[in-house]
Amino acid sequence: MPDAGNARSHVFHRDLKAAYPVAVSGDGPWIVDKAGKRYLDASGGAAVSCLGHRHPRVVKAIREQAGTLEFAHTAFFTSEPAEELADFLAARAPEGLGRVYFVSGGSEANEMALKLVRQIHVERGEPKRAHFIAREQSYHGNTLGALALGGNPARKELYGPILGLPVSHVAPCYAYRHQRDGESDEAYGLRAAKALEDEIVRVGPEKVAAFFAETVVGATAGVVPPVPGYFREIRRICDRYGVLMVLDEVMSGMGRTGTLFACEQDGVVPDIITVAKGLGAGHQPIGATLVREDLARVIEGGDGVFRHGHTYIGHPIACAAALETQKVIEDEGLLERVRTAGDVFQDMLVERFGQHPRVGDIRGRGFFRGIELVADRETKQPFARPKGLANRIKAHAMAGGLVCYPGNGTADGIDGDHVLLAPPFIMSDDELGLVVDRLETAITQALTEVRA
Ligand code: PLP
Repeated sequence: MPDAGNARSHVFHRDLKAAYPVAVSGDGPWIVDKAGKRYLDASGGAAVSCLGHRHPRVVKAIREQAGTLEFAHTAFFTSEPAEELADFLAARAPEGLGRVYFVSGGSEANEMALKLVRQIHVERGEPKRAHFIAREQSYHGNTLGALALGGNPARKELYGPILGLPVSHVAPCYAYRHQRDGESDEAYGLRAAKALEDEIVRVGPEKVAAFFAETVVGATAGVVPPVPGYFREIRRICDRYGVLMVLDEVMSGMGRTGTLFACEQDGVVPDIITVAKGLGAGHQPIGATLVREDLARVIEGGDGVFRHGHTYIGHPIACAAALETQKVIEDEGLLERVRTAGDVFQDMLVERFGQHPRVGDIRGRGFFRGIELVADRETKQPFARPKGLANRIKAHAMAGGLVCYPGNGTADGIDGDHVLLAPPFIMSDDELGLVVDRLETAITQALTEVRA
């Protein structure tokens, strides 16, 4: 076996030219590679590992479930871990979201939601509703439906000719770039939401099936929370036109922002919520789609069968791991920790980067933070994509023993760069300080190359 991904590897790696270090063990917020180098995981990969790595309680739950029942196909059986996890989530979900469909990740959760929305409308006698509206600068996954749904041009470009979903996109709620000088948060929120109403009217209200949005935009625009009032207005618009409201909390949900569901902080109850990453926290691949009870009853009272399914839905070991993950978060008061330490982390970032000539915005909620880099703070002009700033930051961070999640296309889908930070909820204040130190070094090194 090679020490790093290279020509001798039989693994079809993400980047076939890259040489990846071999990760051999996890130790709380640290990942250790085969050479013994330790990486402080400040993004949980991509906002996944919210309990850090190898959490003893979750490891034990996985062992026990594997020793009891590893798998039972959901066309034949339900299982105790799936039932218990669904009870746990339904009891804590926003009012009315009482049914939970388990899948193996975020793309599957959104793919399922697309089909569910469609079947609900057909069963309610509105078969014309087949058009979806989502937002620019968004990501909902990489399967064909979810990819088409998202508004991430770089990820979609190659596949354009095979993305058949009827979808259109409206501007996101992105205050740093779209709020006008002197415009209040409330006025901006209403204006941003109005883009949805205009699009529904343009398409024809009787044809629109659902509106999908990330509650807090993740990797495409670099952790962009909505302004207060935006989603309440979105809810009103969806209700006015019979459009279902789906919030994608694959990245922002499950405590990442300091509440179990990110939308709790926006005072709205959507019709459907999708979650994944923090649900099993990387200990097992699992995602879920939570659905309003009365919508599930539409199918229950009609066809009865949801026309969808995968072999591994509701996998007992994945559900057991997710249930234990969520119990640890609750037992150890980690949501409270995310709220208070999240503020401390934001202060640390502002203190270090707030006056940085290449940092335009530092934003987010809880342990979900984004730093947007700009070539010019006054004009907010982004770095051009070919400069590859985000990738350079990632490479320098890795060399310096830091895992963070830089991305590009931040400003408009093409240009612009950000760094996404999503530390595990168990990270200490000292470790957060180390993240800031190592990130500063990586950003400085990358900017030196970009200027050269
Ligand atoms: N939705 C959002 C908001 C995401 O951030 C992601 C992944 O980054 C997905 C969906 C897709 O999830 P997965 O990669 O687990 O399929």
